[in-house]
Amino acid sequence: MGNEVQFLGRELIVELEAKPTFITIYYSTSTDAAGLQWLSPQQTAGKKQPFLFTQSQAILARTWVPIQDSPGIRFTYEATIKVPAQLMAAMSAENPQEKNASGIYHFKMPKPIPAYLLALAVGDFQFKPLDKRTGVYAEQVTIDKAVYEFADLPQMVDAAEKLYGDYAWGRYDLIVLPPSFPFGGMENPMLTFATPTIIAGDRSLTTLVAHELAHSWSGNLVTNATWDDFWMNEGFTVYFELRIMEAIYGKRYCRHAKPTWIRRSEIYD
Ligand SMILES: [Zn+2]
Repeated sequence: MGNEVQFLGRELIVELEAKPTFITIYYSTSTDAAGLQWLSPQQTAGKKQPFLFTQSQAILARTWVPIQDSPGIRFTYEATIKVPAQLMAAMSAENPQEKNASGIYHFKMPKPIPAYLLALAVGDFQFKPLDKRTGVYAEQVTIDKAVYEFADLPQMVDAAEKLYGDYAWGRYDLIVLPPSFPFGGMENPMLTFATPTIIAGDRSLTTLVAHELAHSWSGNLVTNATWDDFWMNEGFTVYFELRIMEAIYGKRYCRHAKPTWIRRSEIYD
C-alpha cells in the first residue's frame, strides 16, 4: 500500500513478475467506508429493518472496493451478495424481482461502466412492474404510491429512444430509497436510486426521473474522462431531460421549468 493522500486514499501497488491477463485481489471492506450508508430501522419508511445503500459518485467507489476509480476507466462486473433472509439486495446490474429464502443474490453488469456507477442497495423492499422493461423497487409502505407516481416512466423511455436512439441497458428500474436518502437521485445504470420526496401524490416532480433516465445516454454511455469536465455530463443531461419532458408534456411545460440540477441543492445527481 502506498502513502495516504488526503481525499484520494492509498494506492495499491501490485508488482508483477510475468504478464498475467488478470489478477485476483482478496479484501474486506470497512463499515466506515464513506461510500456505504448504513441506516437504522428508524431511518427507513417501514421502521422495522435496517437499510444499506451506496453512493460511489464522485470518488467514493474506492472507499468500499479496491478499484481504479476514475470516470475514464470502465469495467464489467459480477457480484454475489448474501443478506439476511428478510432483506433483498439490488445493484446497478441485472436484478432479482423477488426475495429468496437463502438471502443470496447474483448480479451481472455485462456492459462496461465507470466506477462511480457501481451501486448496491439492501433492505426490506419489493418490486412491482410498470411495463415489460420498467419497474419500481420500494419498501412495502411506499410501493403503491411509487407505482402511481411513476406511471409515465414507460412513456419517458419511449420518448427518449425516439430522440437519442435505443435504450442500451436492457431494463430500466427505479428504487425509492428510505426518507433519509440525502440526494435527489443517482443514475446508477439499470437502477436509478431516487428520493421518496419526489412522491408528491400528483406526479408533479417526475422531472427528476426524466433527468436520471437521460443519464442512461449522457453520462452512463458517454461520460467525462476526468471530473474537471463533469459539466459535460450534467449539461447534456439537463438538455436531454427537458427534451423528454417536452416530448411528453409539451413546450409549455419546458418554458416554465427550471433544470432539475439547478433547482435541487445537492451536488451529486
Ligand atoms: Zn444529473
